[in-house]
Amino acid sequence: MFIFGHLGIGNKIASPWSKRLPKFPLFLGMLLPDIIDKSLYYAHLFPEWVTCTRTFGHTGLLLVSVLLLSRIVRSRWLGALALGMATHLLLDCLIDRFDPTKQSPALIALTWPFLNAHFASYHFDNIVDHLHHLWNWPTMSAEALGLAFIGWDYWKSAYRKEMIEVLFSRRFRKIKRHHSERG
Ligand SMILES: [Zn+2]
Repeated sequence: MFIFGHLGIGNKIASPWSKRLPKFPLFLGMLLPDIIDKSLYYAHLFPEWVTCTRTFGHTGLLLVSVLLLSRIVRSRWLGALALGMATHLLLDCLIDRFDPTKQSPALIALTWPFLNAHFASYHFDNIVDHLHHLWNWPTMSAEALGLAFIGWDYWKSAYRKEMIEVLFSRRFRKIKRHHSERG
């Protein structure tokens, strides 16, 4: 999954818990595992450990650490970051299920180092090669769905006032009609 899938679908998954949380760290968390791991991969840092684009940033260990820290320092900012990260890891694990030919790299990273001593191993020559691999129907469908959710939320917030007016005017007309029929 890529940017719009994580932001759009992630926001829907997080919505029951995100009402009172700050939005910036929430959205940052939805992208943070990829920001960390793709940077590590393309910077060729720790090549003996960073064997693919889902490594340290995609671990349950990092997620639990951020969550615990948010509790210890009572930070809603960190809590929002952890919630965003949790949606990212969940969506990566779900999208990996569409490729039954290989063991899920997202699940391997999520359970590292408890169930797997190493991360999954696959190679991209460069970012263009990487983008080329994202061109498949599960990823593109998730991107389209995420973009649709973002568009819908934007439309709702932009036309909130008009929608309320339409709803209330209809309701008002109904009540008026009901009263005139009774009268
Ligand atoms: Zn990811």
